[in-house]
Amino acid sequence: MANYTQLNERIFVIDTHDLGREARTGSYIIKDEKITIVETSASPSIPFILEGLKELEIDKNDVEFIIVTHIHLDHAGGAGLLLEHCPNAKLVVHPKGARHLADPSRLIAGARAVYGESFDALFDPILPIAKEKLIVKNDQEVLAIGPNCTLVFLDTPGHANHHFSIYDPVSNGIFTGDTIGIYYHELAKDGIDLFLPSTSPNQFRPDKMITSVEKIKALDVSAVYFGHYGMSTNVKEVFTQLKHWLPIFVNAGKQSFEETPNASPTQHKDTIRDILFKKVSSYLDEREIPRNHEVYEIIGLDLDICAMGIVDYMNKTK
Ligand SMILES: [Zn+2]
Repeated sequence: MANYTQLNERIFVIDTHDLGREARTGSYIIKDEKITIVETSASPSIPFILEGLKELEIDKNDVEFIIVTHIHLDHAGGAGLLLEHCPNAKLVVHPKGARHLADPSRLIAGARAVYGESFDALFDPILPIAKEKLIVKNDQEVLAIGPNCTLVFLDTPGHANHHFSIYDPVSNGIFTGDTIGIYYHELAKDGIDLFLPSTSPNQFRPDKMITSVEKIKALDVSAVYFGHYGMSTNVKEVFTQLKHWLPIFVNAGKQSFEETPNASPTQHKDTIRDILFKKVSSYLDEREIPRNHEVYEIIGLDLDICAMGIVDYMNKTK
């Protein structure tokens, strides 16, 4: 089976199998004059990218740009390793992310603290990137990758402060990382589009997320390329659901902190996760998705992490 899916004339997605899961993370390949990759996922995902490039008959030496939407490890952890395989490529990153790619010691320490003994299997190695390989793009800055294609970078915080989104004028599409949520691709075959916000720790800010959503919405794009996972052309629904779910996520945090002000962070996290799980599952019940559907496993994991980010946000704002 091919490692990649063709999305339109010149954009392909390679399944990078983050956490060993299918359709969890993807790397986008833009086959323009200058071959450009968007997102790398973590280092264990790099073999999938290399295999996909081979299938697409792209020489690794011809890759010119590797762009990461933000520096969370499931998007950028493998960037240093991929650069070793693509020696002529430059790495394009948000101004707030660059120094952590040059010196990943804080990223490594943070991931070790969270993942403990699983760190090696999930993320190793996280390699530093030489400063001269890094290109920083501020809000509204551009990158020409072909005679007809100049990508535009938009500062889009909310999920993380080191997050930008990348507008592609040729497909009138945008690579949004985690800014405007997660697309639950597992439900596509059931004819259901589910988009939930990604509120993971520890820079989640709902107000910034809404500003970023509005900024992206104003572009009137025809396609959204999600970090997790794949492309949606049901663009109106993406924004509608984000605006539907985001207040529900924040209110779950408010409810927990109001009703049990003395609870521990873990207790708050569990309460918030359970509230959200109920809301999402009743939404899916109404759409006749059975409770044993494979999507529930990943929703369970995501809501747990989202709940952690909401606890962090509540603690910072109370
Ligand atoms: Zn992510």
